[in-house]
Amino acid sequence: MAENKRILITGGSGFLGSHLCERLLSAGHDVLCVDNYFTGSKENIRHLLGQPRFELMRHDVTFPLYVEVDEIYNLACPASPIHYQHDPVQTTKTSVHGAINMLGLAKRIKAKILQASTSEVYGDPSVHPQTEDYWGNVNPIGPRACYDEGKRCAETLFFDYHRQHALRIKVARIFNTYGPRMAVNDGRVVSNFIVQALRGEDITVYGDGGQSRSFCYVDELVDGLVRLMENTPDDFTGPVNLGNPREFTILELAEKVIALLGSRSKIIHKPLPQDDPMQRKPDITLAKSALGWEPQIRLEEGLKPTVDYFRRVLGL
Ligand code: NAD
Ligand code: UDP
Ligand code: UDP
Repeated sequence: MAENKRILITGGSGFLGSHLCERLLSAGHDVLCVDNYFTGSKENIRHLLGQPRFELMRHDVTFPLYVEVDEIYNLACPASPIHYQHDPVQTTKTSVHGAINMLGLAKRIKAKILQASTSEVYGDPSVHPQTEDYWGNVNPIGPRACYDEGKRCAETLFFDYHRQHALRIKVARIFNTYGPRMAVNDGRVVSNFIVQALRGEDITVYGDGGQSRSFCYVDELVDGLVRLMENTPDDFTGPVNLGNPREFTILELAEKVIALLGSRSKIIHKPLPQDDPMQRKPDITLAKSALGWEPQIRLEEGLKPTVDYFRRVLGL
C-alpha cells in the first residue's frame, strides 16, 4: 500500500467530493471531509461515517480553518448554474475567500494543494477544442461571472501563492462531469434529462440544443484528480484540462437519454440562458502526457449507472 496521508477534501459531501473521499479512503488514507452542506448532502457520505479513517466537519471555507494535513483538495463551491446563481455574492466569496483560506492553511502546514477549477474559465470559447494556453472569453458582469470570475481569481491566487510562497499547487480545469450522486434538483443537464425522462415529463432543451458539451464519467474524473495530486512532480502545477473529449450537442444528449430509457418524454425547447457557452470540448494532450490519463467510458455506458442511481433515489 502507498504511504498513508492525512487528506483534507473541502466540498467533500458534494457530487465529486464524495467519490473522491471514497477513492482516497480505499487507498488507505485518512480523509477529513469539510462541507457546509449548501449543495452537498450527508446522504452522499453517510456510508463512510463508520470508517475509522473518515472524519466529517461542518465548516464554511470562507472562514479560516486550522487543521493539520498533508494534502488539500479544494472542491468547495456550488457547481451548477442554478445553485451558483442563487446567492452569487456567496459564490464569489466561496471561490475567492475559500481559496485564500485554504492557501493560507497550505502555506502554514506546508501541504500540497489542488484546486478544482473549471472549463468555465474559458467562458464562451472562441478556440475549439480548448487548450490550457487559451485565456478565455468571459463576461465579467453577467450572471455566470460570480462562478467564472471567482474560479479565475482562485487560479490567480494559486499561482501567486506558488510564485510568492513556493507552495506546491495543482490546478485541474474540470469539464462537465456526471454520474451517481448528482443532486436531483441540481439543474445540470444530465441530471435534469434523466430525472425528466424517468418521470415521463418533457425534456427541457434550452435554445435549439445545438450548443455542445463533453461529458466525463465521475470515476474517471476522480482518477485524473488523484493522478494530478500523486503522480506529478512538485514543479508540475497545471493548469491541466480534465474531461472526456467526445463532444455532443445537447439535443443529441436528450435523444440518447430518451432512447436509453425507452421513455415517452417529448423534447420541448426553453429559452437559452444568457451567456450559455455554445461549444465546449477539452484538448487533453497535456493530461495524456503528464498524467497518463485518458477517459475510456463512453457516454452510453456511464449513463447506465447514473440512471440506476436516480431510479433508486426517486423510488421508481
Ligand atoms: P457539488 O455542488 O455537488 O459540490 C460542491 C460542494 O461544496 C457541496 O458539497 C457544497 O455543500 C460545498 N460547498 C459549497 N460552498 C461551500 C462553502 N462555502 N464551504 C464549504 N463547503 C461548501 O458540485 P460538484 O460537481 O461536486 O463540484 C465540485 C467542485 O468541482 C466545484 O468546485 C466545482 O466548481 C468543480 N467542478 C465541477 C464540475 C462538474 O461537472 N461536476 C465541472 C467543473 C468544475
Ligand atoms: N488561514 C487559515 N488557516 C491557517 C492559516 C491561515 O484558514 O492555518 C487563513 C487566514 O484566515 C488567513 C488566510 O488563510 O487570512 C491567508 O493566510 P496567509 O498566511 O497567506 O495571509 P495572512 O495571514 O497574512 O492574511
Ligand atoms: N441545458 C438544457 N436543459 C436543461 C439544463 C441544461 O438544455 O434542463 C443546457 C444548458 O443550457 C447548457 C448545457 O445544457 O447549454 C449544459 O448545462 P449545465 O448546466 O449542465 O452545465 P454548464 O452550462 O455549466 O456546462
